[in-house]
Order: sequence, then C-alpha cells, then structure tokens
Amino acid sequence: MNLHEYQGKSLLKSFNVAIQEGIVANNVDEAVAAYKQLQEETGTEFAVIKAQIHAGGRGKGGGVKLAKNLDGIKEHAGNIIGMMLKTPQTPGGLNGEGKLVRKVLVAEDVYAPDFDANKEFYVSILMDREKKCNVIIYSTEGGMDIEEVAEKTPHLLHKEYIDPELGLQSFQTRKVAFNLGLSGKAFKEMTKFIASLYKAFLGSDASMFEINPCLKTGDDRILAVDCKVTLDDNALYRHPNLAEMRDTDEEDPTEVEAKSFGLNYVKLDGNVGCMVNGAGLAMATMDIIKLSGGEPANFLDVGGTADAARVEQAFRIILRDPNVKAILINIFGGIVRCDRVAQGVVDAYKNMGSIEVPIIVRLQGTNADLAKKIIDESGLAVHSAILLQEAADLVEKVLKG
Ligand code: GDP
Ligand code: MN
Repeated sequence: MNLHEYQGKSLLKSFNVAIQEGIVANNVDEAVAAYKQLQEETGTEFAVIKAQIHAGGRGKGGGVKLAKNLDGIKEHAGNIIGMMLKTPQTPGGLNGEGKLVRKVLVAEDVYAPDFDANKEFYVSILMDREKKCNVIIYSTEGGMDIEEVAEKTPHLLHKEYIDPELGLQSFQTRKVAFNLGLSGKAFKEMTKFIASLYKAFLGSDASMFEINPCLKTGDDRILAVDCKVTLDDNALYRHPNLAEMRDTDEEDPTEVEAKSFGLNYVKLDGNVGCMVNGAGLAMATMDIIKLSGGEPANFLDVGGTADAARVEQAFRIILRDPNVKAILINIFGGIVRCDRVAQGVVDAYKNMGSIEVPIIVRLQGTNADLAKKIIDESGLAVHSAILLQEAADLVEKVLKG
C-alpha cells in the first residue's frame, strides 16, 4: 500500500524524523486557512502547494508551486486542486491522461532564499532480496531523477547494508553523513535523521521509503521535503492507524471492488480469464494456460466459499476486461463440494444473461463427477473437464476458434 506525501510525513514525524511541516487541504478555503495556521506555527513567509497523488515527478508536471502570499496560495491551490496532473510516473507519462488531484499539501517554505545555500540529497531504504537485508541507498545528487543518477553516475549512489541481527549501527549513520560531505551541525543532524528514519521504517513494517529531496537547509537542519512510503500489505493488520490511510481513489477500481467481495484479483495483460480457489492452484493454472498457448488475463483467487453469489461477482470482474477471450474456472473441491460450485457456476451464468466468451470449467475433488453432470446437463455453453490437461486442451481449442 502506498501513502500520500502528507500521510508519509505524519508517519515520519511520529518517529521524530524532521520534516518540512505542512497541512493538507481539500479546497482553496482550506488551503488559505492552512497557510495562515502554518505561518503562525512555523513563522514561514512563503508556502509550497503540493499536489497529493500517488506518483512522483509532480514538480515537473506543474504539481508543486511556491506561493509568496495569500493571492499566490489562492491561485496555485485553485489551479492544482481538480487538475489532471501529468508526470513521468502517471499512467501514460507526460503525454497520458494524468491523475485527478483531490488534495494539496500546503507546506512551509524551507529553502534559503539564496538557493545555493540549500543542498538536496537522496535517501531511500528498502530490502535487498539478494543480500537478504535492508539497505540504505543515498546520494549527494538529490532532487533530480535518481534513475538518471544511477545510469550516468553510478559511483555517486552509495549503499549501506544493515545486518538484521545487529540493526543499524551508529558508525553506519556517521558513514552516511560523511559520504554526503557533511560536517559540524549538519553532520550530527544527518546521523539523527538516518537513525530515526530507520526506526520509522522498521516500526511501520514498510517495504520502501524514498526521501527525495532530503534537504540541508541554509541553517544546517536536515529535513524530509518529500517522501514516498510503501507499506507491506501483509503487515497492515499490525497498524490499524496506517491501514486507515488507504486511499482507494488511487487504486485500480476493479481491484478495489474485488477486494470488497473478498476476491483476490490482480489484472494482467493476457486473454484467458482465470477463476481459481487457492493462490497455489491459481499460479499453476496460469502456468498451464501459458503452456497451452494462452496468456492469463488475471490472477483471481475466489477463496474458500465459491457459492453462486461469489462466482457471479468473479464473472463480472473478469468480464470487465475487454481482452478476455475465454474463461477457465479451476476449482478444487475440498471443503466446498464440487457439485455446489458447479451449481453456483450454472446459477451465476443464468443470472448474468448472456456471457459471450466460452467458459471452461474444471472441477476436481469431492463429488467431481456429479459436478460434471450438472454442468453438462445445464444446457449452457459451458465446457467441462475433470483433468487439468483436458481443461488446458479445451482452452487451446476455444482460443483457436
Ligand atoms: P516531486 O516533484 O513529486 O518529487 O515533488 P517534491 O516534493 O520532491 O518537490 C519538487 C521540488 O519542489 C523540490 O525538488 C524543490 O526544488 C521544490 N520545493 C519543494 N519544497 C520547497 C520549498 O519549501 N521551497 C522551495 N523554494 N522549493 C521547494
Ligand atoms: Mn521528490
């Protein structure tokens, strides 16, 4: 799960990571109130209006603007809220349709007027699967595209691996500050910043933190000016306050709807829709679809209770994808008996009126023979199979027409 910048910053702040302060606003009036409150609380004169969408590169697309007074706040907040923001990371890139901006962060201006007095660093934390430990990646070349730095000047990208047994050691935070060319107060601030950032990373079960820019201000403070936070979905149950931050407006609507029915659905690019129970069987089904010349259009685990209502929801979700040319239902009847699933498929099929694409049903397990009989006698254009290979052959046959 991804967080918005304003949510990520509140998470960081709760772990004492120094941040650029800000207040979120849903409309121009709220932005004006936020600006006044920020001025009182931080003494800032200017403020930056920052679009809150789940994509980076907002600055490049006009989603980050400096306002120097109340009129500037009204102007920029008015322009940014409601705009379709295009950045290199929104769907289709800078020439795509962009993403609707619903909220802005009104943030204090933390940059020194003499721009050279500021220094923008890059800091991220993620897990290195090969090394089997977390790694802090950092660079003096912050602010800009880190992908470009990695490609053109890889020696400017440093990595600090963290031993999971020992945790982050203080010599490591000093090494980061040293490699970033810091000294004096800024050096000390950076070691504190890295230590608290790592605590926040562990404490929130995050899978990625990216602070770009991490700013050294004119008065040698170290602040998170931007943050991208990805949390581990499987650990969210331990963090109800973070789970609440989920913004479904930013997620694929079909996947969100599937989740609300208890279906585990991931859209893919192929042409064969899959409806399966159990993640392992779903993976095996996708493999056999590929072996028989098709490409899976989705991953869909209907879970343990494949009754008619659920099968129907799954049908509807799979069929929303115009690329689907056939559907393979592959269910192992253990606790749910196959005949009940078969009845569910037939009922759902009848309920939905016309389904244009061929459907291949493979039911194996308790009462599989009875299930095949129900399908074959239903009079519907559903192909049934008991063996997975039979099902795969049927998929191949219907795809070839
Ligand atoms: P991104 O473009 O989505 O990565 O958004 P960022 O939060 O990284 O902001 C983009 C750029 O806006 C930064 O690199 C800064 O140059 C600028 N910016 C952000 N905050 C401030 C601020 O407080 N004052 C000034 N003058 N510029 C800022
Ligand atoms: Mn950024």
